[in-house]
Amino acid sequence: MKDFEFLSAATVDEAVSLLAARGERARVLTGGTDLIVQLREGLREADLVVDIKKIPELTSLEYSPAAGLKLGAAVPCYRIYENAEVAAAYPALVDSAKIIGGWQIQSRASVGGNLCNSSPAADSIPSLIAYDVTCHLAGPQGRRTVKAAEFCTAPGKNVLGRGEILSTLEFPPHANHSGACYLRFIPRNEMDIAVVGAAAWVQLDAKGQKIEKARLALAAVAPTPLPLTAIAADLAGKPATAETFAAAAAAASQAVKPISDKRGTADYRRHLAGVLVKRTLAIAVERAQGKTVVTH
Ligand SMILES: Cc1cc2nc3c(=O)[nH]c(=O)nc-3n(C[C@H](O)[C@H](O)[C@H](O)COP(=O)(O)OP(=O)(O)OC[C@H]3O[C@@H](n4cnc5c(N)ncnc54)[C@H](O)[C@@H]3O)c2cc1C
Repeated sequence: MKDFEFLSAATVDEAVSLLAARGERARVLTGGTDLIVQLREGLREADLVVDIKKIPELTSLEYSPAAGLKLGAAVPCYRIYENAEVAAAYPALVDSAKIIGGWQIQSRASVGGNLCNSSPAADSIPSLIAYDVTCHLAGPQGRRTVKAAEFCTAPGKNVLGRGEILSTLEFPPHANHSGACYLRFIPRNEMDIAVVGAAAWVQLDAKGQKIEKARLALAAVAPTPLPLTAIAADLAGKPATAETFAAAAAAASQAVKPISDKRGTADYRRHLAGVLVKRTLAIAVERAQGKTVVTH
C-alpha cells in the first residue's frame, strides 16, 4: 500500500475543510472495511485519509417513535441491531446490517460507508430506499439533503461533491401497520456479494388486509441500486395476497436489465429479482401485521 497522511477530524467543518483542500487525493474513512481494501489493492489512491469517527454528529444514533431515526454516517452496523427499539421499528435495516460481512466487519462497517461506497450490490442501500431515507450532506457550500434513491449515480459514484461528506441518515418515523424486509441471494450462507438483493416496505390498511402504500428497491440488477417506483405505486389499493406479490414479482423481472458476470447471468438475475420481490413483499406484509419474522 502507498503511504498516505492520516488525520482525524473533530468536527464536520474540520473534516470538510481538510477534504476540500485536497480534493480527489483525499478520502474519508469510517470503518475502513471498503477503503483500506481498495487502497491496499491499488483500486483507489489517496494522499490523505481523514477519519471522521471522532465527530459526535456522525457517531450518534438518535431514535424516538415520533421523530424516527437519525443515524450518524459513521455508526457501525452492530449498534443498529443491538438497539431493541431501532430493531423493532426498522427490521429491513437490521436485515441489511446483519449480513454485511461477519460480526467482525459489522463492528466497524457503517451504513453510511456502505452508501458512500456506492456499490450496485451494497446490502443496505435498497433498505434505505425502501424506508425513503433522507441523506444529510455537509460540504464547503454548506448543508443540503438528497433522498437515498437519488444518491448513487454510477458504480462507485454518487452525488457527493469535492469536500462533501454524508453526515446523517434520517429515517421517517415508523408508520402504523407498516413493515419492511431485505433479502439477498448469495451462492453460500455468508460473506459474499449479492447476486441480487431486494427490499420492500409496505403500509397496510387498519385491518391489515390491503396495501395502502409500498416502496421496492433492488440491488445488483443495474449500475446503481434500483428503486421500482412504478411497480410499487401499482401495489396501492391491492389486497395483500400471494397473487398480488406474484404480479409485482413478474413486473420486476420484466423491468430490470441486469448484466451477466461471474456471479450470475442476466436471465438468472431477472428470475431472482422476481423471486426476491415476492418473498420480501410477503415478509414485509407479515411484519406489518405484527408477526415476527427473522431473516438471518
Ligand atoms: C470481508 C468483507 C465482507 C464484506 N461483506 C459485505 C456484504 O456482505 N455486503 C455489503 O454490502 N458490503 C460488504 N462489505 C463491504 C463493506 O464492509 C461495506 O460496504 C461497509 O458498509 C462500508 O462501511 P465502512 O464504514 O467500512 O466504509 P469505509 O470503508 O470507511 O468507506 C467506504 C467508502 O465511502 C467513503 N465514505 C465513508 N463514509 C463517508 C462519509 N460519511 N462521507 C463521505 N464519504 C464517505 C470512503 O471514503 C470510501 O470511499 C464487505 C467488506 C469486507 C472486507
